[in-house]
Amino acid sequence: MSETKRHFDFDLAIIGGGSAGYAAARTASADGVKTVVIEGGEDVGGLCILRGCMPTKALLYAAEVMHLADQAEIWGIHKRELSFNFSEVMARKNALIKEFADFREQQLTNGKFAFFRAHARFTDAHTLELLPHRSHSRERKEALISAPTAGGHKHPRHLPTKLTAKDFLIATGSTFAPSPLPQLNEIDCLNSDTALKLTHLPGSLIILGGGAVAVEFAQFFARFGVKVTLIQRSPHVLHEFDSDAAAELEKVFRREGIVVYTRTKLLDARCSAGQKEVIFVHEQQTIHANADEVFFALGRIPNVAGLGLEHIGVQLEYHRIATNAQMQTTIPHIYAAGDCAGLHEIVHIAVQQAEIAAHNIAHPGQMKRMDYRLLTEVIFTDPQIATVGLTEKRAHVRNIPYLVASYPFRDHGKSLIMEARDGFVKLLADPINGEIIGGCCVGPLGGELIHEIIAAMHSRMTVHQLAAMPHYHPTLAEIWTYPAEELASKIKE
Ligand SMILES: Cc1cc2nc3c(=O)[nH]c(=O)nc-3n(C[C@H](O)[C@H](O)[C@H](O)COP(=O)(O)OP(=O)(O)OC[C@H]3O[C@@H](n4cnc5c(N)ncnc54)[C@H](O)[C@@H]3O)c2cc1C
Repeated sequence: MSETKRHFDFDLAIIGGGSAGYAAARTASADGVKTVVIEGGEDVGGLCILRGCMPTKALLYAAEVMHLADQAEIWGIHKRELSFNFSEVMARKNALIKEFADFREQQLTNGKFAFFRAHARFTDAHTLELLPHRSHSRERKEALISAPTAGGHKHPRHLPTKLTAKDFLIATGSTFAPSPLPQLNEIDCLNSDTALKLTHLPGSLIILGGGAVAVEFAQFFARFGVKVTLIQRSPHVLHEFDSDAAAELEKVFRREGIVVYTRTKLLDARCSAGQKEVIFVHEQQTIHANADEVFFALGRIPNVAGLGLEHIGVQLEYHRIATNAQMQTTIPHIYAAGDCAGLHEIVHIAVQQAEIAAHNIAHPGQMKRMDYRLLTEVIFTDPQIATVGLTEKRAHVRNIPYLVASYPFRDHGKSLIMEARDGFVKLLADPINGEIIGGCCVGPLGGELIHEIIAAMHSRMTVHQLAAMPHYHPTLAEIWTYPAEELASKIKE
């Protein structure tokens, strides 16, 4: 039977109910596509809400409040003794996360599409086998399996063992990367999931890795009094960012008492005398670091195991599901979005990819494509590090000519008022026409400030236009006018 004539249970089956899965379901169902989301996790909400962006930022904000309170004398404010209660810090985070997760569960079960709690895997290119999650109680299954009918579509009111669909979206997220050193598996390391469940703080902590998760947790723990040692293989933390940005963060970390080792090679890990020990090479010396706990922050990989992709011809590329710019895998009616499709583990990218996939499924005659020109990344340390578009590193790799100018926060009115003297802003411009092609902010509220450059780049503004745009005084945002003016003076309008 031809595929157009064949009857399917659903138009679209989405595997995974995280940020990408939900975004695709919302978009597709609004376009009249009969959709089902299958979520196999123990809790509903996805990584961002349950164990990623939201809980970590809630904790980092608490750490920032703690730091500001500790520094209050700068502004003539004298505290009595400063103290904290770690259980209360974690309880506030937990309450917020519950609120976000409850809301997401409502969005997933509001009847606009069907929602099944099960683990899914392909048995052929149009069929999924569904395995109910072991931990789901009978009542919960009843509550979550049966989505009411909506949009004129009839959804099954019980969990089928199999379902068919015309199109699919794989949105299964990511999982922890395997350990590069088998000994690390023997010493029971913390990771970003288990650290969020701690009931008390360790006295000391070794963090393995220098990516976003590593540096954010390093500062959180250090600001709550934990003795932190961070061990990174590359010459700098955040090795994908420009080295001036990474070096600024390392400077602040060292000032706050974090011991940072870069250019290291891990040799061994073991438990000794009630502590955990990591042995590594640094500047030709063998170093033995000891701490109460070791935190594994050596990255994540796409979560694709057990989906049966190898049987249906969906190909992988460096662990991730290979897709084209329309988010189609090597089997065109099967799409992938979010962390499982890799490239960037960033939630708004996961959402954007998913919305594009859903649009393309609903409108195959008017396909949209992903565009990473405005790729934005934010590290929520203090100072925050935020970039959009090209960094100098990316421009070098792609051989793209640019002019660059930067300006430090230590020389800017509003940041001096805030005593936020670390960091700088940096603009990259096309040397011929002055179009802004990249921005970087290392400094106070960098994740907010970068949005001015996202907006400027979105409308393809030049440095001349940005320099001429009014900026209120005294604000942090007006700092962008200095590099814009410097570049404008070097490029003919
Ligand atoms: C500690 C940490 C902090 C982070 N902070 C930020 C941040 O500040 N900003 C940012 O942009 N990004 C951040 N991220 C990354 C961000 O969380 C992810 O990019 C985003 O959540 C990915 O969404 P997703 O939908 O692809 O995957 P997920 O949200 O992981 O969703 C995948 C879902 O699929 C389900 N699933 C998997 N396999 C199956 C199966 N076979 N059958 C059924 N269901 C299945 C899973 O249970 C899961 O719910 C952070 C990540 C971590 C780990």
